[in-house]
Amino acid sequence: MQSPREYLLARAGESGFRVARLANVGPTPRFEAFKTWIAAGHHADMAWLGSRMDERSDPRHKLKSAKTALVLAVEHHHERPADPGGRTGMVARYAWGRDYHNLVGKRLKKLGKALRADGHGAWGGVDMAPIVERAWAEAAGVGFVGKNTLVIAPGRTSWMVLAVMFVTLEAEPDRPIVRDHCGRCERCLVGCPTGAFVGPRVVDARRCISYYTIEAADLAPRELLPGFGRWVFGCDVCQEVCPHNAGAPRSEEDDLLPRNAWLDLDELLATSDEAVDARYLGTPLARPGAVGLKRNALVALGNLHDRGAAPSVERGLAHPSPVVQAAAAWAAAQPTVQPS
Ligand code: SF4
Ligand code: SF4
Repeated sequence: MQSPREYLLARAGESGFRVARLANVGPTPRFEAFKTWIAAGHHADMAWLGSRMDERSDPRHKLKSAKTALVLAVEHHHERPADPGGRTGMVARYAWGRDYHNLVGKRLKKLGKALRADGHGAWGGVDMAPIVERAWAEAAGVGFVGKNTLVIAPGRTSWMVLAVMFVTLEAEPDRPIVRDHCGRCERCLVGCPTGAFVGPRVVDARRCISYYTIEAADLAPRELLPGFGRWVFGCDVCQEVCPHNAGAPRSEEDDLLPRNAWLDLDELLATSDEAVDARYLGTPLARPGAVGLKRNALVALGNLHDRGAAPSVERGLAHPSPVVQAAAAWAAAQPTVQPS
């Protein structure tokens, strides 16, 4: 006879989740930190993060008799393909392959269906639902929250996508990791190219490259742009420098294999918006769309200081979008040298 705990972990495994842990539904300390972060305005204009706070604080607003949080993780680490050099830009690891929302969403759907077929209530999501996944991952001991704000599984990695399924079945929980495995390390805090950390475990999106290259509609403040380097979608610096990621295991998810690790900046700017949007449909790169990607590509070109980028910058200046034009004007104003 399976215990409720064994039952839930078995269903998670059958649905394709290799990492699954349990927490009791109840208050989580990390949610309080999240509320403070929102109150300070560190979420920039991502207003949805500060909405539906009742549901975020207590899943019983969505699933009345929720007893257990089944916390799921999908590891996505692959080695970065060699730098092709030239006028190319970098994409954050999680976005190299297909959109993880599809992959994880399908597994969650299968899991929810199996649980409901057995008579249990189940509700969950990955990123899109009002759930602070990090808080539940910490409570269930998937990892500890590092100074870089990410959940880190000691001995494995922080290169993970998190999801949560709340269930009406009561089950024995896992224990949280109480030790701070960061110790005196501050590599992420000092390594951030734009100084986005207000302090340990507090990032201000208003200085973060990931926010500006993925979520923001506008061009970042000019003084931050030199720090963007060659990042054209997201930024991995605060994970790449983390010693806990030194021996990260290779992900077994083929959907997340590196397909778009590097983008050819000139080619991107020479391609129509429609063709760019069609190319990245079903991948995370669809989020900023062609206009956002072209804006980001122009910033990266400005940071390359390469005289050969002039035709691409001209294309940016002629683009109908004001934000692309503004990025092109910034790129055009950067000093250039003849490539060696
Ligand atoms: S993602 Fe990049 S810019 Fe944002 S906090 Fe981490 S290192 Fe800084
Ligand atoms: S880089 Fe160091 S301080 Fe930052 S999360 Fe990793 S271990 Fe913690």
